[in-house]
Amino acid sequence: MMLQHPFIPTARLLIDDAVLEAVMRNRQLKSTDAESGGILLGLRRDDHLHVTDLTTPYPDDKRSRTSFQRKDKAHQARAFLAWRDSGGVVDYIGEWHSHPERHPSPSPIDSREWNSICLFQHKPMVFLIAGTLASLWLGVGDTSDIRQAMPTVV
Ligand SMILES: [Zn+2]
Repeated sequence: MMLQHPFIPTARLLIDDAVLEAVMRNRQLKSTDAESGGILLGLRRDDHLHVTDLTTPYPDDKRSRTSFQRKDKAHQARAFLAWRDSGGVVDYIGEWHSHPERHPSPSPIDSREWNSICLFQHKPMVFLIAGTLASLWLGVGDTSDIRQAMPTVV
């Protein structure tokens, strides 16, 4: 999937199909399903952002119907291995999680967490929320703001 970068009109936000498929498999389709989530891995070329991989929940994550806290150290370990094995090309590039709603949008908690990640990382980061339909919220954040790439249906 290719979208326009919401801050830089000439740049693209690219998400590999395998990433979208994994996100779709981790949606909260049953009324008892807890939120899923993880980190997005990918590369930056000029201003383009390309998401190539992701992590999915690990045992030590804290999950409920309406929250996902990434607590398991395995996410960070995967990011480090991807970075090392790619010679520093692939790196931590964002965050994703699911919401138990049809058309997802960021909660106030999401916005706060994403803002602090952007301030810490000091480079544009990708944020993705998967709803229960084939509907995603997809955006980019930098140190000033978080903007939706566009309403997205897979
Ligand atoms: Zn959320």
